[in-house]
Amino acid sequence: MILQKTPDIPIQTNFLSLPPSTSVKTAIKMMAEAQASCAIVIEEQKLLGIFTERDVVRITTNSTFVDTLALSELMTKDVVTLKISEASDIFSLSRLFSKNRIRHLPVIDEQNQVVGVVTPHSVRNILKPEYLLRYVRVMEVMSKQVIHGLPSDSILIIAQQMAIHRVSCIVIVDPQTLYPIGILTERDVVKFHHMNLDFTQVSAQEVMSTPLSTMCPEDSLWSVHQRMQALNVRRLVIQQSTGELAGIVTQTQMLKILDPTEMYHVMVQMQEIIEQQTKELHQLNQRLKIVNGELEKLSTIDELTQIDNRRRFNEFLAHEWQRLSYLVKPLSLILCDVDYFKRYNDTYGHVAGDECLIKIAKAIRAATRQTSDLVARYGGEEFAVVLPNTDSDGAERVSKNILTQVQSLQIPHASSEIMSFVTMSMGTVTVIPNSSNSPEMSLQIADELLYQSKQQGRNTYNFRLIS
Ligand code: GH3
Ligand code: MG
Ligand code: MG
Repeated sequence: MILQKTPDIPIQTNFLSLPPSTSVKTAIKMMAEAQASCAIVIEEQKLLGIFTERDVVRITTNSTFVDTLALSELMTKDVVTLKISEASDIFSLSRLFSKNRIRHLPVIDEQNQVVGVVTPHSVRNILKPEYLLRYVRVMEVMSKQVIHGLPSDSILIIAQQMAIHRVSCIVIVDPQTLYPIGILTERDVVKFHHMNLDFTQVSAQEVMSTPLSTMCPEDSLWSVHQRMQALNVRRLVIQQSTGELAGIVTQTQMLKILDPTEMYHVMVQMQEIIEQQTKELHQLNQRLKIVNGELEKLSTIDELTQIDNRRRFNEFLAHEWQRLSYLVKPLSLILCDVDYFKRYNDTYGHVAGDECLIKIAKAIRAATRQTSDLVARYGGEEFAVVLPNTDSDGAERVSKNILTQVQSLQIPHASSEIMSFVTMSMGTVTVIPNSSNSPEMSLQIADELLYQSKQQGRNTYNFRLIS
């Protein structure tokens, strides 16, 4: 799969830039007010260093720290930067973030001036579902080791945990159930500084963000991305459906799937998903085949001609046989067979053959009573008619009528030896059902009569009254 490179590197140009002489107190104030995750330290338009939320957490835990110190003393000086001329695609960016474990990448131009900052946040904001987000599930990228704290912990303890584990947030869990109930982030620490909170006195539960908006391990990265955008957050807590804390996913982790070295891993996972789905699809197909087979068995309609099928014919005949033997009334039976139909197929093709059978079925229907009689497709080009409560006169009339109806269709049949149209031969029996005869016997006699009609030159019927 080829992933299209994007020419647009999402550079944030409205970043916070401060001179190195700025006091830390002022810097924190400005970061809190601007909701900026870092300050770029610049002197005479040259990049000197960077001061981030993580630095604020670090100094919070240092008891000897005084906030009148200048940024120049606390900032990070060896800043990883991105030359604007080298900024080619978001895939290499994601690698820079994870390799250097950084979250801010100042972008400099040819004159070494800072033109903006790229962050995982700005990259994530331009992601599209095509960047595999749709296919990868959260559980595959989330961090399962979540550093958590208790609601009663002071925010100093929380900040210390952030510094020790170098994480950007602490999840607050219920002491009994250990279910996640709130979260505290680096950004909160900056804010608490700005609010002059006493870090030793204020507890996590007083200031944490709660309730939590959580997602499930099975959710796609795309849905996580959308939720992050909707809530304007930079991480999401992942919770099992049973309530337990499952992990946490940050923007940096999400971008890992863009890292070319991670891509192979993602591809393997996708392959597994595809294989699994193919397997499931195959199983579904198998089941569908079985269900279709069952349905076919239950069906009473012939698929091609849409008249009753042989199964329905057998049922109907047995039922009428019983009923009429009780009433001592006649039943007539006609077996029909299209003449020289093999030749018809050979001459006009199988599709035309099918169309011909459809027309013939309609013609036979038209020659019989709609309400009481049954016309069924008995076999390939054979049809069977049951005429309940019909005596020999009636049966002969219907037989003639069928012959006429089929002939009057005037379906050309150039290779027929009888005439230039399609014709039919028939065997007709009339019987008063009783214990000395049976449907099977009547059918056999009808078949013999049909054979006689063929022998006599076709396009005719033979009739017999069975006693
Ligand atoms: P006869 O006059 O002796 O009945 O000759 P025939 O050619 O009609 O009889 P035969 O039994 O030799 O051939 C029947 C042909 O009917 C063979 C087959 O190709 C065709 N047939 C059977 N079912 C269908 C069908 O559903 N569609 C089509 N197009 N042809 C069918
Ligand atoms: Mg036949
Ligand atoms: Mg035939």
